[in-house]
Amino acid sequence: MKKRENLSPETVILHNPYPQPDTYNSLSMPMYNTVAFEFETAEQMESAFVGRSAEHAYSRITNPTVQNFENRVKVLTGGIDVVAFNSGMAAICNTIITVAYSGSNIVTSPHLFGNTFSFLNSTLKDFGVETRFCDLNSEEEVRKNIDENTCAVFLEIITNPQLEVVDLKKLSAVCVDKGVPLIADTTIVPFTVFTAKEFGINIEIVSSTKYISGGATSIGGLSIDYGTFDWSRSVKLLPVAKAFGNNSFTFKMRKEIHRNLGSYMTPQTAYMQSLGLETLQIRFEKAVSNTNKVVNGVKDLKGIVSVNYTGLPDNEFYDISRAQFGDTPGAMFTFDLESREACFKFLNNLKLVKRSTNLFDNKTLAIHPASTIYGTFDEPTQIKMNVRQTTIRISVGLENADDILADFKQALEAV
Ligand SMILES: *Cc1c(COP(=O)(O)O)cnc(C)c1O
Repeated sequence: MKKRENLSPETVILHNPYPQPDTYNSLSMPMYNTVAFEFETAEQMESAFVGRSAEHAYSRITNPTVQNFENRVKVLTGGIDVVAFNSGMAAICNTIITVAYSGSNIVTSPHLFGNTFSFLNSTLKDFGVETRFCDLNSEEEVRKNIDENTCAVFLEIITNPQLEVVDLKKLSAVCVDKGVPLIADTTIVPFTVFTAKEFGINIEIVSSTKYISGGATSIGGLSIDYGTFDWSRSVKLLPVAKAFGNNSFTFKMRKEIHRNLGSYMTPQTAYMQSLGLETLQIRFEKAVSNTNKVVNGVKDLKGIVSVNYTGLPDNEFYDISRAQFGDTPGAMFTFDLESREACFKFLNNLKLVKRSTNLFDNKTLAIHPASTIYGTFDEPTQIKMNVRQTTIRISVGLENADDILADFKQALEAV
């Protein structure tokens, strides 16, 4: 792949070449919607299967369309490898399973996306992997929880829906000191503006369902390895670290975990998400500028008790958010109303904004997290996770900001 220095992300996104020549000189890469690939000889087949050559053999393992999508993300992020999955959750499972083992533990915050919490707290627990929940902004607590069996520190860069931000430079310094990889779910701020590597994140995970898919076209996930961790310090990867060094995670993920778990992205999804990638930055900029207008407009509306967005100067995470995400801390915010009943009435009164889960659709979406995403969690767990009955979560879309505000205003007046 040609190096493209001095070009900005929105240009790089559009001008990444695919392998040529193409029989028809197709300007964009065609979709290779096939299960298997044919070989000229038995010898070539053997080479591909044992990994001596890089030909495609079977689309659960690699596929040209998916690989093209992965390569475009690689060029944008500077990762040494990117693996695309058929959901953000699959990217999280595959990444964690690559480093975790029975008897190991993961240090994280209880403020997590619902399924991630459940995956760590229930699914992995049954396989003997412990999750230690603590305040990741407390260096003392993090140090106390890490021991020789800690296989990862995991976090979300802006937690959903609490909107908490961890000081990544401080946390990653502790991880470096303790020899533990830092794995981050960066879904809320795309890699066109947030550079995970600069903040010491070793493995970045993205639900590409959200901003990247280009308007809720498809479910997908990405695991991006920056090649910055010394895997000889990992109990699980030590046996491969001698041979593969900083590539050990990628090796283990590619050659074992991802093909065994079988959750690779499909060519159709990779095609749609490649198109989504091309407009990611311009859509994000519009969504964030809308968010700023809506957040500032909503503050003064009748019935609003508080507004939570890390881009607001009075937010407790404003300074750290600015240091890490500049003036673009994503297009998700929350507000609190008087009661759960007020939240339900507000949602029922909306005329334009959609009552829906998901984030970063082109349309604005509203949801009451406590009764939906966290609806099956008991009250003590909801309290531990800081999910309140009075909170509405908004994902701001690409409509005219005044139209979004007008809908909120009429819905609140009717409460
Ligand atoms: C949506 C989301 C996920 C899960 O992604 P899916 O593509 O729905 O599996 C994980 N983390 C965050 C922060 C999310 O918003």
